[in-house]
Amino acid sequence: MTGTGDRRWMAEALEEAKVAFDRGEVPVGAVIVLEGRILGRGYNLIETLGDATAHAEIIAIGAASRTVGDWRLNGSTLYATLEPCLMCAGAIDACRMSRLVYAAGDPRKGSFGSAVDVREIRGFCSGLSVDYGLMVEESSALLEAFFRERRSEEGKIRRGGRVDEGGGLENRFPRKRDVGSNPTLSAMNSRGSERIGLNRGLRKRGLPTR
Ligand SMILES: [Zn+2]
Repeated sequence: MTGTGDRRWMAEALEEAKVAFDRGEVPVGAVIVLEGRILGRGYNLIETLGDATAHAEIIAIGAASRTVGDWRLNGSTLYATLEPCLMCAGAIDACRMSRLVYAAGDPRKGSFGSAVDVREIRGFCSGLSVDYGLMVEESSALLEAFFRERRSEEGKIRRGGRVDEGGGLENRFPRKRDVGSNPTLSAMNSRGSERIGLNRGLRKRGLPTR
């Protein structure tokens, strides 16, 4: 069961997700609360940090641990705008989080009932109570807006639309992953603006550019 207090904290997590959105990151946010106080907050920073582990929950847990000066976060509640993945479930278990409240379920990666349920593993997240669905509309709308915008921007590129170097698109919606998925094909099909993106991606990986 969730209450009005929960709504207040989930709204804070949503604020974090909006910051991620503005940075061109998949908009997911998290806050950790103990006795009416936010111990730590975080938003998805995967692209910014170039770090696959930079999920909102991991960042919020790290921040909360620094606040209390202890890796144990017993008694705390984690509010996340999206159902945590397996990696984050591991962190939630490790820090002995007492309660998890998430907004939207994630059918692809959600580890608390959507894709898998880690609570079926004996002793894993055993003391954790879980609530979900709070402010799901707001969280889902933000995610949908993000992916809709990204799809339309990608469509523009495919149609040969101009993309300013260092301007809006590359910064707002980094496409490293897409380019990396098939660099040869991308290079063959690329127009100028795409090749810039490709070279930048290859350079980052220490590979020769064209
Ligand atoms: Zn995660």
